[in-house]
Amino acid sequence: MNEMEQLRNQLDSVNLELLELVNRRAELVRQIGEIKDKQGMKRYDPVRERDMLNKLVQHNDGPFEDSTVEHIFKEIFKASLELQEDDHRKALLVSRKKKPEDTVIDIKGEKVGDGNTHFVFGPCAVESYEQTSAVAEAVKRRGVKLLRGGAFKPRTSPYDFQGLGIEGLQILKRVADEYDLAVVSEIVNPAHIEKAVDYLDVIQIGARNMQNFELLKAAGDVNKPILLKRGLSATISEFINAAEYIISRGNGNIILCERGIRTYEKATRNTLDISAVPILKQETHLPVMVDVTHSTGRRDLLLPTAKAALAIGADGVMAEVHPDPAVALSDSAQQMDIPMFDSFMDALASYTATAARS
Ligand code: PEP
Ligand code: MN
Repeated sequence: MNEMEQLRNQLDSVNLELLELVNRRAELVRQIGEIKDKQGMKRYDPVRERDMLNKLVQHNDGPFEDSTVEHIFKEIFKASLELQEDDHRKALLVSRKKKPEDTVIDIKGEKVGDGNTHFVFGPCAVESYEQTSAVAEAVKRRGVKLLRGGAFKPRTSPYDFQGLGIEGLQILKRVADEYDLAVVSEIVNPAHIEKAVDYLDVIQIGARNMQNFELLKAAGDVNKPILLKRGLSATISEFINAAEYIISRGNGNIILCERGIRTYEKATRNTLDISAVPILKQETHLPVMVDVTHSTGRRDLLLPTAKAALAIGADGVMAEVHPDPAVALSDSAQQMDIPMFDSFMDALASYTATAARS
C-alpha cells in the first residue's frame, strides 16, 4: 500500500468515527429534548449553544479557524435540533409527503381534483342580476357548473368600482339557485367569511390577499371549499405556506390557482408561471387551476394558455365572461363575450379530443 492509499484509508475510518459521533450526539440531544418536553421547556436554547461554541473555540488548536469550527458545529447543532422538530414542521399538511393521494373537492357534485377538467367562468364583477344571469345561462348551456363573479373587488385604485358587496353575493346566490350552479366569489375581510358561507359554494382568496394571514385563518375555520390564488409576487413556497395556514385550522378543501406573477415582461398583464402547475401538483395533494384571464390580460391568449394549462396537468381553468365586455365595470379588456366564450369552449373540446386520441 502506498502512502496515499494509507492516508485515504485513515480518512475513511475517521469519517466513520465522525459519523458515529454525530449520531451519538443526536441521540443525546433527543434524550435531553424529551426531558425538556416533560418540563415544558423550549428545545432551542441559544444561551446553551453559545456556551458550547465558546468551549469548542477555546479548545481549538487548528488547523481550522475558529469561525470555521463555529460554522461546522452550528450545522451539527441545527441538524440535531431539526431531528427533534414535530412532524408538522418537517412535512406540511398540504404536502404529498403527508398525504400521497389527491384531494378531491366536491362542490355540489362537481369533483375538482378527480382527474377531469373543471371550469370556472363568470364576470370579473357582479354588476347586476341581469348581467350575471346572462353569463349563468351561457355557462349552464355549456354544461359548466362553477360560476364566478366578484362582489368585493380589491382594486388598485380606491376610485375604481369596488363591487356590490353583500348585494353582489345575494345576486350570485339567486342565480346559483335558478340555474343550479355553484358560485365562487372573493372575500377580502376576515369578518365576512362566516357570512359568505350562506351565499357561496367556494370562497375565493385573491392574489392581493394571499398573505393576509388573518383572512387565511378565518378561511381555515369554516367548512367551505377555498379557492386560493397565488400572490402577485409570491414564490411557490409562500403560496404553499398560505394554503398551509388554511389547512392547519382544519379546512383541507383548498384549490390552488396560478394566476400569473409580476415580472419585467410587459406584453402580458402578468407572466403565467405554467411550470408552477406540475410543481404544485407534485408537492401538494391539492387541485390546481389556472386563471387565464388575470395571468395574460389578453383575450387572444386565453385559448392557447388554457390549452397549455390542460396539457401540463391543471385540474381546471378559470376565465372571465361578460355579456358586453366593452361596458364592463372592471377588466373590460380581457373578458370574453358570450359568442367568444362559445368558440373558446368548442376549441378546447376539440383540443382535448385530439389530445386524447394521440
Ligand atoms: C379575480 O379573480 O377576480 C381577481 C381579482 O383575481 P386576482 O386576485 O388573481 O388578481
Ligand atoms: Mn377580473
